[in-house]
Amino acid sequence: MRFHIITLFPETFDCYLSHSILGRAVANKKIELNFLNPRDFCDDPHRRIDDKPYGGGPGMVMKALPIIRAWEKASVIPFREKLPFTKKRRMKTILFSPGGRKFTNEDAKHFAHHFDDIILINGRYEGIDHRVVEATGAELISIGNYVLTGGELASMVVIDSVARQIEGVLGTYESLEEERVSSHEVYTRPEQFHFKGREYAVPKILVSGHHKKIEEWRAFSL
Ligand code: SAM
Repeated sequence: MRFHIITLFPETFDCYLSHSILGRAVANKKIELNFLNPRDFCDDPHRRIDDKPYGGGPGMVMKALPIIRAWEKASVIPFREKLPFTKKRRMKTILFSPGGRKFTNEDAKHFAHHFDDIILINGRYEGIDHRVVEATGAELISIGNYVLTGGELASMVVIDSVARQIEGVLGTYESLEEERVSSHEVYTRPEQFHFKGREYAVPKILVSGHHKKIEEWRAFSL
């Protein structure tokens, strides 16, 4: 799976995507990350990417053309490993917007199994000129009912959740855990500790050795 990330701030991804499971997925080429900065696609010698909104209103809006050009470049980059002629590239474009359709784990599974390339368009300021949606056929996606400063966190959420669905990204145990969208309560050592005069103990059933009862307890604690 290749993610093409159209962002003014590619460096914001370094920290999260280069560690742990995702860092390993990149190293093992299970996922590829291709960054495109809309500033590199500006005509303006000052590389200005935003302008005032038509009709007035607060803030600035990201211009359409630099983003459309970045998207066009992402959509023509040839595969590193060539696909057989008969196989068509399956590409999806997402544009992040707080007003978009809510992203779910079902989407993550669907994207992982039905697409080869996902283009993620990240907004900043007061958002992106709507003509980008018309030109690229992007789907508007939101990651929740709140407003973020930019789409970069949303991109990382989508990359993380989609990558987990790709075969070989998770270890065997993690894959089993993936079957559950929400996990039961979990505990680890020590069996008990004290904090501010109160004792915190692991539920007795978990140290009882009764596997059937433990499973029942886990199902109940979901
Ligand atoms: N009023 C603007 C709008 O509705 O698009 C707010 C823009 S917000 C400050 C800047 C960018 O952050 C958006 O263009 C979008 O890409 C991203 N963003 C903000 N909240 C988001 C959310 N809940 N889900 C996905 N992306 C979000």
